[in-house]
Amino acid sequence: MNIRAIFCDIDDTLFPTSEFASRARKNAAMAMVRAGICAKPTAILSAIEKEVEMHGSNYSGHFDHACQKFRCINREKTIAAGIVAYHNTKLGMKPYPDAAKTLAQLQKRGYLLYVASEGRPIKQWDKLIRLGLSQYFSKAFVTTEKSKAFYVSLAKAVGCKPCECLMVGNRLDKDITPAKLAGFQTAIFKGRKSEAEFSINSLSRLIAILK
Ligand SMILES: [Mg+2]
Repeated sequence: MNIRAIFCDIDDTLFPTSEFASRARKNAAMAMVRAGICAKPTAILSAIEKEVEMHGSNYSGHFDHACQKFRCINREKTIAAGIVAYHNTKLGMKPYPDAAKTLAQLQKRGYLLYVASEGRPIKQWDKLIRLGLSQYFSKAFVTTEKSKAFYVSLAKAVGCKPCECLMVGNRLDKDITPAKLAGFQTAIFKGRKSEAEFSINSLSRLIAILK
């Protein structure tokens, strides 16, 4: 295989995003109880999760809306307490153990490394910086939808043929299927067997694959 550029997803590929988000929301719910909301942490947590399901993870009113469902001694203080606890949990954000080492090795071998992610650009860079991984990527391509057209534009932007690009990610519908339609080679991370050329359970497997 003749790979020149590697595109890497962030969430649940470079770090366990789902695990982190659930820990952060749990911590927020407990802080909101301490701040005077009249409900059990489990009830608040489930209200927050419903908000995330309804409005997506990038919406900023999750705690505010969840708060409206319960009696509060001080609503503003309770929302702020939830936000602080959520953000404090971010201080413990860590990449998957082999991520930094693998990216450093790939960079040393001369591969062009990029991020291909869905979400908000500043929020995605915030994660890369917190995780200590930002220095490995020349550029982060952040889109609202990982479509075939998005992947076609990525290959063009980095001056490679699609067949010289490898997309690594955990989602079939976002990281594998549309990338393959654009002509990329693909590696599914911690996912079920699929149409992806490679199935990996750790990022360090990329080193062996690319040999
Ligand atoms: Mg992902």
